[in-house]
Amino acid sequence: MANCLIAAVEAIGAAIASNKEVLTSLDAAIGDADHGINMARGFQAVSGKLSTLAQTADAATVLKTVGMTLITTVGGASGPLYGTAFLRAAAAGQGKNTLSPSDVGNMLAAAIAGIKERGKAVRGEKTMLDALEPAYEAFKSAEQQGRSLVECLAAARESALDGVMFTKSIIATKGRASYLGERSLGHQDPGATSAYLIIAALEEFC
Ligand code: ADP
Ligand code: MG
Ligand code: MG
Repeated sequence: MANCLIAAVEAIGAAIASNKEVLTSLDAAIGDADHGINMARGFQAVSGKLSTLAQTADAATVLKTVGMTLITTVGGASGPLYGTAFLRAAAAGQGKNTLSPSDVGNMLAAAIAGIKERGKAVRGEKTMLDALEPAYEAFKSAEQQGRSLVECLAAARESALDGVMFTKSIIATKGRASYLGERSLGHQDPGATSAYLIIAALEEFC
């Protein structure tokens, strides 16, 4: 079980590492040019921590380790937000040895609720939530149609990408990009982009 989840988290780290410059240049346009650096540093630390975890560790332990590590190493606005997301997903998956699509849906919902609480943001404010909430809705609707986990995650990935594109058309009202007001229009949100990368990498979950 944990093997597969560890592979999924490693896939997230690889996607973040190979998009480090993309994320940083998106943040250069509307923030402080560190999102890729922050996230790559965090997932590099996560990778180190996971290699010390027993292969028998359960899903909740893996996710909790990811969350704690992100909180202490990513920094910026995104560190505590993603960290909280993984900690909430861990709590929602507590005691599970295998994860059904419905379990993963509940974990995603818990993660999003954590981000909203911590960041006091809602969808439409040009943040990671603009990728994550549509992703969750697509996941849930695929799950309710009895689709497999991989199919649910593929649906989530497509909607997350639509959400990322949508961030170009809205004004930032949370985070550093909000200082730009209308000048944030036309730019793609870096956090929404990293959220898409995370959702897309989860498809590698076995
Ligand atoms: P910082 O802006 O502190 O340098 P990062 O560059 O790592 O942090 O992350 C910026 C991203 O964090 C933004 O693109 C946005 O998606 C996300 N973000 C910022 N504030 C919030 C918030 N209150 N709620 C949700 N996401 C947020
Ligand atoms: Mg930044
Ligand atoms: Mg910063």
